[in-house]
Amino acid sequence: MDYWCELAWLPPGEVVSGVLVTVDGSRISAITPETADPPPGAVVLRGLTTPGFANTHSHAFHRALRGRTQADRGTFWTWREQMYGVAARLDPDSYLALARATFAEMALAGVTCVGEFHYLHHAADGKPYDDPNVMGHALITAAREAGLRITLLDACYLTGGIGTALVGTQRQFGDGDAVRWAARAEDLAKAYRKTPEVEVGAAIHSVRAVPPEQMTVVVEFAHQQASPVHAHVSEQRRENEACVEAYSATPVQLLHDRGALGPRATAVHATHLSNVDIALLSGSTTHVCMCPTTERDLADGIGPARALLDAGSPVTIGTDSQAVIDVFEELRAIELDERLATGKRGHWQARELLNVATAAGHASLGFPDAGFLVPGAWADLVSIRLDSVRTAGASKPTAVESAVFAASAADVHSVVSGGRRIVAEGRHMLGDVGGMLADSIGALHE
Ligand SMILES: [Zn+2]
Repeated sequence: MDYWCELAWLPPGEVVSGVLVTVDGSRISAITPETADPPPGAVVLRGLTTPGFANTHSHAFHRALRGRTQADRGTFWTWREQMYGVAARLDPDSYLALARATFAEMALAGVTCVGEFHYLHHAADGKPYDDPNVMGHALITAAREAGLRITLLDACYLTGGIGTALVGTQRQFGDGDAVRWAARAEDLAKAYRKTPEVEVGAAIHSVRAVPPEQMTVVVEFAHQQASPVHAHVSEQRRENEACVEAYSATPVQLLHDRGALGPRATAVHATHLSNVDIALLSGSTTHVCMCPTTERDLADGIGPARALLDAGSPVTIGTDSQAVIDVFEELRAIELDERLATGKRGHWQARELLNVATAAGHASLGFPDAGFLVPGAWADLVSIRLDSVRTAGASKPTAVESAVFAASAADVHSVVSGGRRIVAEGRHMLGDVGGMLADSIGALHE
């Protein structure tokens, strides 16, 4: 299959006209720049075409909370109570429907690979289902049906806070100890060993949820599987204070002591960091995942993204709580938040931000061969309108700036994911995604 791109963003970061992308199966087989006219039979992609976007931090079920958590006043911790309420109402069937709709919404926003940070393992009373991985399978099925590759980051979640047992809904998250968690996660990984579109990775939910001696087991699992390992890190000041009080170490120091940092690791949020934390993360080339629309929604704060990148940590983005699903909004927020915090412009260039959503994100999810338009890479193509009311007036030299700083998810008109055309003319292959979302979310709130 041939795709002819009016403009395409090619390595090392330039916009080129008339790029013919030849796809063979799930991979790009050839790239031919400066092709004057589309050859017969080629699909014409107007606007700017970029590699697919990697959403490295998602909790699919949080989509059911959008809007509802904005009523009245509240804190991170009252938001968490509402999130637990939805968790308690989900079962494998309702989770499949909700996640499929949520992942389809991501596809419409240009996401071709999602890192699903999964901790909703068990039934509402905390008992495992007959198949203890049925919820993980539901998420993977949902992603495949929506046309996304997925890295299922199976989260170890053992305590409700440092030194406190899981209570209420939290019992759904726990496996008892990390050895039992690893046995379950290994079964899940085995089931997808021959499925190239699916990666099973590990997650340490947070220092609140995994005691240090149990972290070691999770890290060993990730080493054995050579898989990504993600962790929520320093999202809230209160989390840092509790960690220092209990262990005389920050969350980053604790993860470092337990061998959890490194090139296959991703620290999610990384909001409240000391200079030592930044040195440990960047010195180990640990990825960091910024989730700016969630962090502003929850009043978490602004993480030191530029300082981390400069010191050596690749930066990625995640839609996390699904407060909105718009990759452009996440990307420009990284720059715009730093402008507000410092009173200065120009921390990030648009092409650096596009790299956050493409190559860096895919590497964090264990797909280092995606996120580039080069022969041999995964055939993921996102095409962005440059003639909408938001983007009209864009020019070739600044097309990336127009996309990153002015486009919205609604400007994504075509998405090819692993060689499959999953979005065409702004419509997802599954049809009415709004209707799918309304039905699956409505059923949970009845
Ligand atoms: Zn999260």
